[in-house]
Amino acid sequence: MTYVIDPPLVPVVPVHGGGRFPVRRIFCIGKNYADHVKEMGGDARSDAPVFFTKPADAVVSGDDVVAFPQATENLHYEGELVVALKTGGRDIETAGAAAEMIFGYAAGCDLTRRDHQAAAKQRGGPWDTAKAFDQSAPTGDILRAEEAGDLSAASLSTQVNDEQRQSARLSTMIWSVPEIIIELSKLFDLRPGDLIFTGTPAGVGALKKGDQVAIKIGDLPECRFTIGCS
Ligand code: MN
Repeated sequence: MTYVIDPPLVPVVPVHGGGRFPVRRIFCIGKNYADHVKEMGGDARSDAPVFFTKPADAVVSGDDVVAFPQATENLHYEGELVVALKTGGRDIETAGAAAEMIFGYAAGCDLTRRDHQAAAKQRGGPWDTAKAFDQSAPTGDILRAEEAGDLSAASLSTQVNDEQRQSARLSTMIWSVPEIIIELSKLFDLRPGDLIFTGTPAGVGALKKGDQVAIKIGDLPECRFTIGCS
């Protein structure tokens, strides 16, 4: 049987040193740094992590321009460590098994329509329009896990127009990377090609047209993008 329309392309993220990582799904965790939870007016560690998703084609890679999204007056950056999976599974039991699923790591940005998120929180509605819009997941090139080594001592920083806005050690995450994989695998069949955005530290803020964003994490390739002017 032939397709009746052209099938969508598989979204990809370049891999440092060569190759392309095909994206299947994008999972995200919220409220994963205590100081950010505080700035958003919430309590610290809750019993269960907060998960949401973005469509795979929200990914934007490589020095790209991100169009200022429609229907928002409060677009926020959230600099985050991104984990790329090479294998899948469900009900993963140990941190060691979770770590073996990781292909590599990237620096990324969980772009958020903060006005939509605030409205959704107020009425207890879904977060999709706040989080899952087009181009909402700029992601830097992926560094293979064996080259990235131990990231536990690394720091994340977000700069907007060369001004530092976020700075935090990855070790201050509430749910560690293996813990996030274990918790996600209780809810979803994880598969090769999945990306996981691991939450943002304090210092989130608004972006305007023309802003240049750079997210740096240890020795990972930077995530850089510009908010379009049109
Ligand atoms: Mn986030």
